[in-house]
Amino acid sequence: MAGRTAPLSLTSLGGLVDAGLIDADQSAALQPVADRYAISLTDSVAALIDREDPADPIARQYLPMVAELDRRPEERDDPIGDGPHSPVPGIVHRYPDRVLLKAVHVCPVYCRFCFRREMVGPSGDGTMGTAALKRAIDYVAADPEIWEVIITGGDPLVLSPRRLTEIMSALGQVAHVKVIRFHSRVPVTDPSRMTTELLDALTCSGKTVYVALHANHPRELTGYAKHAIDRLIASGVVMVSQSVLLRGVNDDAAVLAALMRRFVELRVKPYYLHHPDLAPGTSHFRLSIAEGRRLVAALRAKVSGLCMPHYILDIPGGHGKVSLSESPVTETAEGCYSVEDRLGRVQTYRDR
Ligand SMILES: *Cc1c(COP(=O)(O)O)cnc(C)c1O
Ligand code: SF4
Repeated sequence: MAGRTAPLSLTSLGGLVDAGLIDADQSAALQPVADRYAISLTDSVAALIDREDPADPIARQYLPMVAELDRRPEERDDPIGDGPHSPVPGIVHRYPDRVLLKAVHVCPVYCRFCFRREMVGPSGDGTMGTAALKRAIDYVAADPEIWEVIITGGDPLVLSPRRLTEIMSALGQVAHVKVIRFHSRVPVTDPSRMTTELLDALTCSGKTVYVALHANHPRELTGYAKHAIDRLIASGVVMVSQSVLLRGVNDDAAVLAALMRRFVELRVKPYYLHHPDLAPGTSHFRLSIAEGRRLVAALRAKVSGLCMPHYILDIPGGHGKVSLSESPVTETAEGCYSVEDRLGRVQTYRDR
């Protein structure tokens, strides 16, 4: 397991070759991928990779692939349309009662399917400075309709306990904010970060705190992850899950059932299963909405209701999320769907 201050050496092709995670003769072909998108694995994640299995579902999530250079016309740099809904830097305000606060743009790992891959990474926007943070919190404080602040990024649990305490105590002063939610992979990707100092920082505001844990394969939910989750729950945090439906990782009803059951066993309530976003260079991960709906129906036939996430599409262009299992979705032509957004407007989604 990675020490909290251990250098993350698995951030270059050379590092991956040294660790035996990619073959030296693949390195040249992968160089343009490395030039384009950030690479990082933690020791915890690297230890989960089965080096004998060329189709390993953990490797597929984190190791660069030449397929990432295949950019499709339907793909977008900002697939879910954050930009037009950002009133001040770091805030995305799409729904009246809740905002995203993108406090940091780095992660301990870089997922190859990441929907914010154009914005995250060591050369991205980094961590919000004190002035930008004050401006973002002033925005939240000025709008009494904002009931929930969702701290995301990047991965917000890479923030130092000192920085997190600063953010949480500032939000603690805003009476109309009742809930603070984090979206993070850290309990899985770097569980040793879950120190007493970090837990104290997370819970210092007096607000109700949720952590939405992102994991996509049951093998990611290890004993180390369980320990981190147990510590979060013991400190009063409520946990929900989010996963991305990914070809070659979890596009199988038995794998999804094992993943969702494992979450429930760990006291993490399945919340969202995301249809993959139209992020650049990710077509090898995508499946059609029709396939996704078949998988979710097969999952429902197997598992307890406790294990069922909402199957969600974030409609490209900033139209927001829609449930693909509950809302009317019509395939109007091959790979072309009409979906109704939350305001009842019909939107078109094309996956090819
Ligand atoms: C996804 C998202 C949320 C959270 O949506 P929930 O359905 O409440 O989980 C909030 N704001 C923005 C801008 C989002 O993209
Ligand atoms: S941890 Fe989240 S934000 Fe970071 S690369 Fe993975 S999906 Fe993207």
